Amino acid sequence: MVGRAPRIATYTHAGRRSGNQDAVLSTTFTDGSLLLAVADGMGGHLAGEIASATALEALHSALGTGVALREAFHAANDSVLRAASGDSARSGMGTTLVGVLFERGEYRVGNVGDSRAYRMRGDRIEQVTDDHSFIAEAIREGSMSPHEAARSPWRNALTRAIGTERSVQVDVFGPIRPEPGEVLLLCSDGLYKSVPEDMLLEVATSTENVDAAVQALGALAFRRGSDDNISAVMVEFGTLSRRGMELTVPVPVQRSTPGRG
Ligand code: CA
Repeated sequence: MVGRAPRIATYTHAGRRSGNQDAVLSTTFTDGSLLLAVADGMGGHLAGEIASATALEALHSALGTGVALREAFHAANDSVLRAASGDSARSGMGTTLVGVLFERGEYRVGNVGDSRAYRMRGDRIEQVTDDHSFIAEAIREGSMSPHEAARSPWRNALTRAIGTERSVQVDVFGPIRPEPGEVLLLCSDGLYKSVPEDMLLEVATSTENVDAAVQALGALAFRRGSDDNISAVMVEFGTLSRRGMELTVPVPVQRSTPGRG
């Protein structure tokens, strides 16, 4: 039993870029089920923003009609394709999409693209999703070493995306019954490419709560040089056991008040 309702926090920031093509979603349906998602859009002027927002809207509305997570991802794919058709400025736009649907005490994770879901339990962190990127697939297949892949001109290319083709293969993980004190993190590559896994876990377990954690993660990615949009959604099932509090927001210094004392 996980006990109390999950605690959720979201964060998205343009970072060093002028626009933010990432989008985040956290919503509770009337039946009490919970949807969390991160989308990282791509495409020319404003198109990436439209792609990520369209995907999240479509995912939300499809799940509201009671379809399964995989079908809702297909609905998101159709919606982004439709939004792109007939407008040359939007041609080729697409988005990553990672989403978690938590219902009846279990969750499923859906994924297309290279945004990620991580599970944190105790002192362990594991990536739930597989990246659909050229670099990750080349390493998984053993056709390239991580070193070679990192130097490839295709290293940033996605092998799957929402809204770029008529059909899309969706990965669905679960159902997973969260352990008490489990934390799930969804994030775009602007976060995880700048903050390694051990630091993700360190921040989650050394901040006061999920709100402080996502703010601290965003700030950390920026400080570590992320040149991308930065997004994170964190959900805590039960109560995470936290270590020190070195990253908590400091207590404000009391200013002296003239005319008193
Ligand atoms: Ca990105």
